[in-house]
Amino acid sequence: MNPRTALVTGGTGGIGTAIVRYLARQGHRVATNYRDAAKADAWRAAMATEGIDVCMVPGDVADPASAESMVRAVEKDCGPVDILVNNAGITRDTTFHKMDYQQWSEVVNTNLNACFNVTRPVIEGMRARKWGRIVQISSINGQKGQYGQANYAAAKAGMHGFTISLAQENAKFGITVNTVSPGYVGTDMVMAVPEEVREKIVAQIPIGRLGRPEEIAHAVAFFTTDEASWITGANLAINGGHYMGW
Ligand code: NDP
Repeated sequence: MNPRTALVTGGTGGIGTAIVRYLARQGHRVATNYRDAAKADAWRAAMATEGIDVCMVPGDVADPASAESMVRAVEKDCGPVDILVNNAGITRDTTFHKMDYQQWSEVVNTNLNACFNVTRPVIEGMRARKWGRIVQISSINGQKGQYGQANYAAAKAGMHGFTISLAQENAKFGITVNTVSPGYVGTDMVMAVPEEVREKIVAQIPIGRLGRPEEIAHAVAFFTTDEASWITGANLAINGGHYMGW
């Protein structure tokens, strides 16, 4: 395995932490962004106790200028970005007839427009170096839709269009672009859902439990290997059988 520089956006979150940990344990130099310096210091210190030294740079993925300076800071501190995981994401759930423009635009900016904001400053370097791995973290709800998530489902579905177009444009440059679509994983995002709603969700999952962040990280890491060089434009659903498409 060749050690690379990997940028995982939203690396301090539930799934992001597992991805950072997994890639770091494979020997990659891993970078992530933060918005709150105190929170970032505490998270970085916790990772250091596991022997993982994470390169941390400020950055808001929803803001194009901030995302670009985040990428430039990673390049300066840890080297050119060879692996990009567009993982940062938020929800602002409400039924569409009650949704305001802020709830719509925050979700679209953070989940979908962020793919432009972060990938755009990375892609030219990958093309010049003729190697790259880009993985979007979408969602089961981008595939099947979800009551109360018109904003989130639209943004997450949009990520698939982004993946398959970018995959075509960059295939000849040694760059693969894929999507991982997790089902419900037991992170803060899902634990914030009321317990009775969560129980109903688990009842719909054939495997009978929520996913674990490390199970998502395993799939992301798979796409980033040299051996996965013939896999591009794919979507890997990891959802305990909750939604089976083909
Ligand atoms: P968390 O809420 O635990 O973590 C989200 C991360 O994204 C945090 O590090 C957060 O940083 C960061 N973030 C949010 N907004 C921004 C922004 N504007 N700029 C930079 N960073 C930002 O979420 P999860 O780990 O659960 O989710 C990770 C990804 O997986 C998301 O894209 C989510 O949609 C997707 N997903 C999650 C599922 C689940 O069951 N948990 C299921 C399917 C998909 P900060 O601390 O600064 O807010």
